[in-house]
Amino acid sequence: MKSEQSPTGKIDPSESSTAIEKYEIQLSPLKKNINRQSKMLRRFIGRTALAFSLRAQRLMDMLLAILFIALLSPIFIFLLFITLPRARNASGPRYFYGKYGTPFRMLYLPVADEILPKAGDATPDRKFIKRYSLHKLPVLINILKGDLSFVGPSPVPYPSREIPEYVRQTTRPGLTNPYLLRKAVNIAHEAEMTADREYIHQRSAKGDLGVLLRSALILPTSGEKPIPTPEINMLDITIRNMKMSEVINKIAHDALQTTPVQLAFVNPDCMNIACTNNEYKALLQKLDFVLADGIGIHIACKLMNTSMDDNVNGTDLFPYLCERAMQDHLPIYFLGGKPGIVDAMVEVLHAKYPALVIAGFQHGYFKPEEEGNIINTIKQSGARILLVALGAPRQELWIHSNLNALGVGIALGVGGLFDFMSGQTKRAPRWMREIGVEWVYRLLQEPGRMWRRYIIGNPLFLWRVMRWQKRMKAGNHQ
Ligand code: UDP
Repeated sequence: MKSEQSPTGKIDPSESSTAIEKYEIQLSPLKKNINRQSKMLRRFIGRTALAFSLRAQRLMDMLLAILFIALLSPIFIFLLFITLPRARNASGPRYFYGKYGTPFRMLYLPVADEILPKAGDATPDRKFIKRYSLHKLPVLINILKGDLSFVGPSPVPYPSREIPEYVRQTTRPGLTNPYLLRKAVNIAHEAEMTADREYIHQRSAKGDLGVLLRSALILPTSGEKPIPTPEINMLDITIRNMKMSEVINKIAHDALQTTPVQLAFVNPDCMNIACTNNEYKALLQKLDFVLADGIGIHIACKLMNTSMDDNVNGTDLFPYLCERAMQDHLPIYFLGGKPGIVDAMVEVLHAKYPALVIAGFQHGYFKPEEEGNIINTIKQSGARILLVALGAPRQELWIHSNLNALGVGIALGVGGLFDFMSGQTKRAPRWMREIGVEWVYRLLQEPGRMWRRYIIGNPLFLWRVMRWQKRMKAGNHQ
């Protein structure tokens, strides 16, 4: 269609815009149709991809189950030989909710209590069965039958009063899942149901293979944990054994008190520093709110035959702390980090937690003569929670010297947290955290600074713990 020209030969702008409008009106049903069709196409591709992924998952389950059954058949026969004669004493069959919430029977071997005794007087073969849960091997048949998957949310026992909504969906329960992995390395801070939902939402055959490989690496060595004690004495420092939610509740409570409290996180590097820095060690011994940070302390706990409830490190704690501070209107002050880094972090926080009251912030490269002013500013800011990122042990010693002058309810030393939160330093991907190798990622990021801390520091710390424990045991026997 041609647009009409004015007598001067030029196109009248008002007429041309009317022509465009006319075109647009004619095109609009066409556009709508295209939009609808592309939406349908996307939905179709999404559904096909999901169906393909579920099929791929099922195929992977079947192939692996057949492979494992073939490989493990000698163990099966051995187990049948020692378990069946005592099958009469075994506890009854176990039922669980399967796909679409349909109950199925879990095919554990009928193992009597005498084969899996609670006391430690079992023979080595029985200990071996118990240690690696070999009596559960027939679940491979459940997988082959389609009752279970290798990867999926943990099965819910049947009958149960409240079953999670997703159990009624197409989801098959599984032998392992991201939540179990996180639990094994003490980083399962969210509820199991939340982790399961996240897994179901994001699952793919490739993701499942990753979970399976990580589980093969982690779960056989994680075993049964000793019952955690409220406190753990390690290298003469008392570490509180608390869950993430308990820590958050305590911080929110302490923030409102008039007597200020100091919270310190310790990782193997801090423990090594404490072994040679008496002032720092004396401070950690005095504080009654010291928390363990990182897989190193978790491994040391295993060596000491004790266990941690949670790995409550500063970086994992921070999002929960922000949520709670926002909810309870607790103003936070941030001190530390390179100039520009703390500012960048505050911007990130404004976007992520719009209702968070940020009482103020200050970088950590100040001159000694500026310190008085900074302390005053923090006091005037009305902050109830202070996060100090100056690196250990400086941040802990600084908080301790100034705690009463700061006017806050609680002050925490948080190390490199601001670098992570500002985006300056990237945190290790979740799969690395799930197998407890976040430190490898940090080492690769800053090998020059970190090699001494990790390559030398980690084994040195474990050696120190073993030597210290030997001394303690010898002392107790005297
Ligand atoms: N830092 C600071 N002022 C200083 C020295 C260090 O603010 O005088 C900051 C530094 O920028 C970093 C944090 O302190 O953000 C320490 O990070 P590091 O990774 O050493 O801490 P870690 O978590 O290992 O204790």
